[in-house]
Amino acid sequence: MDVDRLLPTPEAADLIALTREIADRELSPRVDAHEAAETYPEGLFATLGRAGLLGLPYPEEYGGGGQPYEVYLQVLEELAARWAAVAVATSVHTLACHPLYAFGTDAQKERWLPSMLEGRLVGGYSLSEPQAGSDAAALACKAERQEDGGYRITGTKAWITHGGRAGFYALFARTAPGGHGVSCFLAPGEAEGLSFGAPERKMGLQAVPTTSAYWDGALIEEDRLIGTEGQGLQIAFSALDNGRLGIAACATGLAQAALDAAVDYANQRTTFGRRIVDHQGLGFLLADMAAAVDAARATYLDAARRRDLGRPFSRQASAAKLIATDTAMKVTTDAVQVLGGYGYTRDFPVERYMREAKIMQIFEGTNQIQRLVISRGLARPEK
Ligand SMILES: Cc1cc2nc3c(=O)[nH]c(=O)nc-3n(C[C@H](O)[C@H](O)[C@H](O)COP(=O)(O)OP(=O)(O)OC[C@H]3O[C@@H](n4cnc5c(N)ncnc54)[C@H](O)[C@@H]3O)c2cc1C
Repeated sequence: MDVDRLLPTPEAADLIALTREIADRELSPRVDAHEAAETYPEGLFATLGRAGLLGLPYPEEYGGGGQPYEVYLQVLEELAARWAAVAVATSVHTLACHPLYAFGTDAQKERWLPSMLEGRLVGGYSLSEPQAGSDAAALACKAERQEDGGYRITGTKAWITHGGRAGFYALFARTAPGGHGVSCFLAPGEAEGLSFGAPERKMGLQAVPTTSAYWDGALIEEDRLIGTEGQGLQIAFSALDNGRLGIAACATGLAQAALDAAVDYANQRTTFGRRIVDHQGLGFLLADMAAAVDAARATYLDAARRRDLGRPFSRQASAAKLIATDTAMKVTTDAVQVLGGYGYTRDFPVERYMREAKIMQIFEGTNQIQRLVISRGLARPEK
């Protein structure tokens, strides 16, 4: 059953209806085969781009959808309920557009932003390295300014969602030593001296590749520096505040899908002469799952509304990511339990949901790192 959403405008309600239609037509029929075979859904992101779903929270003047986060995130949730990998890649693309939109010059935005927001260039976000995940300031990939113009990029980046498939990467590389020596670049998807590793062999989200990128002295134009040299970590963390809301919405959609599958099953399966939903022990498990999904949605929507009003939302975004992804892990695990032995097979989607939920607690800042952000937001200056 469709989630009964509170939406701010009739236009937003139409957008959710359109998203459901596209997701039911383009995502649901393809997800199982692509996830099982670990094959990329060719052409799917172009379809999402043409439908206007790849630039929703950005202004219409640049080809975006002009939607508040409150609405964009509910679109993501609908996608994630059908196909988590596609929703996550959509969220990462939207995150990868943030540096240019929020920190680029007008000329840079005019040059690149429309093709990004209209989905003709799908994006990746390249912050992590093999030795620098949670501790992003430890990144080592170098960007050396050349006397005759441009930057030479040398080093290894890791864990790039859409790696090797994206048309651009928000790339973070070191222009000087220390925490203030990181800079942000809008790197092209193809360049001489840029290659990608084989897709990681993951527990879930197998249809969209996650790869390393090897930068072997590739030269990129000077104009691809976003913001100023040394502003990279500020840009990276600003983007992540938004991206964490996207992951919270994806996790909520995944939890909702698991809840729906569990409820359907519990209303049909009988044991001891009655439907399992009518056994109080199982009914209460479903009740806890439903309450947790409601709470996850309310938490991310609160953070999104703060963002839409221009209020600080970093702490709330971390809380939303923490709560929604822990909820997804618990609810998907419980959904497997509700289906009993069948839940443990690939004949039902709940085992996939459970595998997909795990990564939500890890990327875009592990949930330990979210606690760090939240606790720092609570700490007062020492007297
Ligand atoms: C499928 C997938 C897709 C990804 N997509 C992207 C992407 O598109 N772009 C990108 O840049 N990265 C991406 N990542 C990388 C991801 O963001 C990192 O894996 C994550 O930030 C954790 O970094 P790490 O793996 O190096 O773990 P580490 O940082 O080594 O952490 C290991 C453990 O120590 C804990 N820990 C570390 N520091 C602290 C601390 N101070 N206090 C308490 N606990 C701590 C962590 O929570 C974790 O449990 C992706 C990863 C995966 C698996």
